[in-house]
Amino acid sequence: MEKTQAETLIKEVETNQKELASHFMQVISNQDLSHAYLFSGAAGLGKVALAKMIAMRLFCEHPQTNGFPCGRCNQCIRISAEEHPDVMIVRPDGRSIKIDQIRNLKQEFTKSAVEGDRKVFIIAGADLMTVGAANGLLKFIEEPVGNVNSFLLTDDYHKIIETIQSRTQLVELPKIKPASLVNYAQEKGLVKTSTNLMLKLTSDIHQIDRLCEDDWLAKAKEQIESWFSLVVKGDYRAFTMVQTNLLPLLRDRDDQKIFINMLCLIFQDVFNLKFKHLPAQELAYGNIYIVIERLSFSITDEALLKIINDILVSEQKQKINISFQNILEVITLNCLRTVRG
Ligand SMILES: [Zn+2]
Repeated sequence: MEKTQAETLIKEVETNQKELASHFMQVISNQDLSHAYLFSGAAGLGKVALAKMIAMRLFCEHPQTNGFPCGRCNQCIRISAEEHPDVMIVRPDGRSIKIDQIRNLKQEFTKSAVEGDRKVFIIAGADLMTVGAANGLLKFIEEPVGNVNSFLLTDDYHKIIETIQSRTQLVELPKIKPASLVNYAQEKGLVKTSTNLMLKLTSDIHQIDRLCEDDWLAKAKEQIESWFSLVVKGDYRAFTMVQTNLLPLLRDRDDQKIFINMLCLIFQDVFNLKFKHLPAQELAYGNIYIVIERLSFSITDEALLKIINDILVSEQKQKINISFQNILEVITLNCLRTVRG
């Protein structure tokens, strides 16, 4: 059977926040769930997914034996699709969450629950509430109408005003374990030789999804390795590769950004080999260890630092809309000149 969106969400939470999720499932079984939580943690840790899964568990018609929601019933499916009338998710409208959004929310919640006796609201980017919105919400949290559970999500709880902090239970989401990320990525088809590179690039599983799509990461890695091998030999074919092999890989700006990081990491490998003597299995591009080693012997410290710096600066060039082909060609020429001395 094909996985439902809700099942995918549960899988995501199991990867990201298994212990915390199990804890919450237990809390719900014990009927100990608090009225208001503040989830704090960096983007990519799965705050929204965790909050939604808790809501799913509260409404699920057939919870699993491990206490998790089923992911297949009508309730689970509608909550994960954000179409459930009693589970509302508020997100920033532009750069902030405005007072009108909170007013709407309150209005919705003063009506009795449409289907059951419970309502859940989730506020993503809660630190982006305007002062008016925050104050509006505060009154609501203090005097909830009926059976309401609220989840405020933020990347840093310090950004949340004291009065809200003190009325919510703070939950700091732990970092995702590298082993979980690797398992997840391998299930999505990531090859073993790309795992180090992936871990150095991201810990955000949505980004991992992107990297694994159509073997993108493996393909891009292979091209960078060929490009780098030419650069190390001082071969100007590295320059023509930009247009023929590298650019066609890049679907959009996000790819370009990752690609710049990937380029940077191969020179960081050279750096780590030269100064820290890291073994092949700890490098991002360990499978071309010999090529990396060759450059680490021949390049001066200054030249290596200059290359890494040039690549890092190109991120800013991207922001001011210089063509990406141009950026890569300049990087390539700089590298070739430096290597040829
Ligand atoms: Zn269910």
